[in-house]
Amino acid sequence: MNRFHFADRSSSPDSSRRRLLAGLGAGAALAWPGLSAFAQREGVQVGPPSRMSALAPPSDQVEAQAAQEYDKLLQDARSHNQLALPTHPQVVRLDYISRRLRPFASMWNARAANWQWEVNLIGADQINAFCMPGGKIVFYWGLLDKLKLTDAEVSMVMGHEMTHALREHAREQMGKQQATDIGLTAITSLFRLGDVAQQMAGMGQQLLSLKYSRDDENEADLVGLELAARAGYDPNAAVSLWNKMMNLANNGAPPALLSDHPSSPDRMANIERNIPDVLGLYERAPKPDCTFGPPGSPNNAACIAALNRDARQRSNEGFRDRGQ
Ligand SMILES: [Zn+2]
Repeated sequence: MNRFHFADRSSSPDSSRRRLLAGLGAGAALAWPGLSAFAQREGVQVGPPSRMSALAPPSDQVEAQAAQEYDKLLQDARSHNQLALPTHPQVVRLDYISRRLRPFASMWNARAANWQWEVNLIGADQINAFCMPGGKIVFYWGLLDKLKLTDAEVSMVMGHEMTHALREHAREQMGKQQATDIGLTAITSLFRLGDVAQQMAGMGQQLLSLKYSRDDENEADLVGLELAARAGYDPNAAVSLWNKMMNLANNGAPPALLSDHPSSPDRMANIERNIPDVLGLYERAPKPDCTFGPPGSPNNAACIAALNRDARQRSNEGFRDRGQ
């Protein structure tokens, strides 16, 4: 599938993010200040993280395993000429939107201040996206193209998927299964990772059916809504996004994203009920200085050129940071 120019993409440490987050040290202090204080914060109310994670492997192990699986996935996409270049307009767009959301991530998980975030676009038709533990994000071309997602809708998917990682829902599922001996490999089935998932096929239906729970989905909807609102994206886009998804499902073509992320009938009502809680955050947030559109819309050439320049500069800084 050679819809656009795919080629190698090498990752580089995200040093500017570290500096940015160092200036946001308050984020870590906000993490889990206790229920009563938490209930008074502005934004959505979702309570403390699940205790089931206590039974799962430690966060750093899960994140390290996820990083390995992410690299395998990228290698696989690259070998099929399906990995988008970092300079592709839709990758620049995804990266820009993710960078608007990232500064608020450590409010939800102090570990996120040290994550090496990555965003990649895979040129396959499936309507899917995910964020693996540790901040490794993938979007699929089919999601952007078939649903013609606006920037705000992309930010809602991004926030939703980032929340699964921030709230460590994968670890929680591992803990629920009490599969601590095979927990690390369970992550590959949660993300349905190509060859690795096939190798796992003999390991039993239980592992392959590992999914996020409906509670996790509700939490991801709400925290994602808040992350996107703080980043300056209109929370009403969450309604249009999930309407687009559910219309496809009702027409007999359920998006992969919905089959891996069970949806409850009251999903829309839950989102709509919580929009007023983030509206003030959205209204006061600085708005994006770059706007884009779905594939096929006119490119925002000035923004893309400027953002590509920024990316090259970060890459050079990364080399300097490593003493090269
Ligand atoms: Zn989800």
